[in-house]
Amino acid sequence: MQGACKRRAAQGGVQPKRKCAPTLGVAAVAQAEQGGGFVNLYREAPQGDISLEQFERFAAARKRVLEGIDEAQAKGVRPSEMHAHVEKLLRQYMPEPRRLADVEEAWATDHVSHFILRLAYSRTAELRKWFVQQEEVLLRYRFNSADEQVRRGCMDGLQSIDEAEFSMFADELLAVFGWRDVGQDADKQQCFKDEAKPWTHIYKVPFEQVSDLVRHRKVLLRGGWAYMLSSDAASVVATSFRQRLSRALLICSDHYAENVQNQEDERLAGLLPTLTQRRVGLVYGCAEQLPLAELPAAMEASAPPCMRRSFAVLRAEHHMKHAGRLQLGLFFKGIGVSMEDALVFWRAEFMQGGKTAEQFEKQYTYNFKHQYGQTGSRINYSPYACGAVINASPDTSGQTGCPFRNCKVEALTGMLRQMKVGGDVVAKAVKMKQEQHYQLACSAVFEGLHGKELAVVAPHQYFAESRKHHKAKVVEEQQGDEVLADDFTQI
Ligand code: SF4
Repeated sequence: MQGACKRRAAQGGVQPKRKCAPTLGVAAVAQAEQGGGFVNLYREAPQGDISLEQFERFAAARKRVLEGIDEAQAKGVRPSEMHAHVEKLLRQYMPEPRRLADVEEAWATDHVSHFILRLAYSRTAELRKWFVQQEEVLLRYRFNSADEQVRRGCMDGLQSIDEAEFSMFADELLAVFGWRDVGQDADKQQCFKDEAKPWTHIYKVPFEQVSDLVRHRKVLLRGGWAYMLSSDAASVVATSFRQRLSRALLICSDHYAENVQNQEDERLAGLLPTLTQRRVGLVYGCAEQLPLAELPAAMEASAPPCMRRSFAVLRAEHHMKHAGRLQLGLFFKGIGVSMEDALVFWRAEFMQGGKTAEQFEKQYTYNFKHQYGQTGSRINYSPYACGAVINASPDTSGQTGCPFRNCKVEALTGMLRQMKVGGDVVAKAVKMKQEQHYQLACSAVFEGLHGKELAVVAPHQYFAESRKHHKAKVVEEQQGDEVLADDFTQI
């Protein structure tokens, strides 16, 4: 590979030009042609030229698959149901080739689209995290769908075992894995010990390859080999893929500005940011500004439980730690509070808590300006989507986190009652909380309060939809009043 190409590959770059199909490595194609599935670990950047039209089309198709995975997770689709879901998404947006002759092109498309999005999603920490999460799900799906030979290609030294080898350690293997679930059915446990051919669920690999599994005692060690369940093999491959992809994305990010943004290729500089813009959780927001005077009433009417709780803590304590300021501050930004208004609001709160105006200026102003991208690295930070709020470190103070995850049942019930959520909806939400379907619980609360469905993916999305609903109701009522007044005049 020549210098420029090498640099492009290190950045995960693909050069859109006018024609030619990109090519894949021979090994990847050979796997695909055998019809045993395909697992691409994206170790090397593609080479060749593609047209701008192909560039956009490939990226859009993959993005739809990744967004579909993300939405499924937001809706609480169980891991065991995810396989069928990803299969459907791939069939819809990135269908597998029907003819052998099309195999290379189809998998090359997969390869190229990964590297296009890798570059596009390398720009911020949040985008990187999102991309890695969805790609990992896709990889797991492909690994679990692939045949033995393809799986072995994913991990050095991975081997299946036969009945004779199983018999040598049968008692020990049953002791270690006997009660582990090896079935595909989410609602019914299928224990390893009850399997007719249990050896088909076991792989062995040189033990140094799976040090994490060894540490967590999830393997049987014999003669330098680690015997493990096939589901754990998928985890090992996925973990190593995630780590490698995270590192590659950081390298992409380092070079993004130098090689894309500031270079004369305006086509890429204009195109790549738009590829990441349509995700609901990141860009959903109020088009209109929210005047500061309306903030308290709007929070009361339309804020989701997480921000309602965080806001209440701030109003009671007139102080908030960094993580809380970031979560609530970015939410304010997402619902249309201007930076100037945000500064006025936070200053007033902190001064009620005992800080002077000078102390606020010195200790906190920079922080809030930073949230709006007006100082420091000038990154335009996005408000948190539900995933980020739910996965925040557990916080009992109420400043951060999702109440459906962090609150005990009594506290959550009290909070929902205060929001005037009906008893049956509270019970439904509590049940969903106990099943760890936090966003579904929140969606049920939204539906209970507004009488319409919403798949909740971000607190500012909840807020915007609620506010839209209330405004529409006001307009409806006004129109009703006008009709009544007209009727009255005619009488
Ligand atoms: Fe907030 Fe999302 Fe939790 Fe609802 S599900 S409370 S919007 S983090």
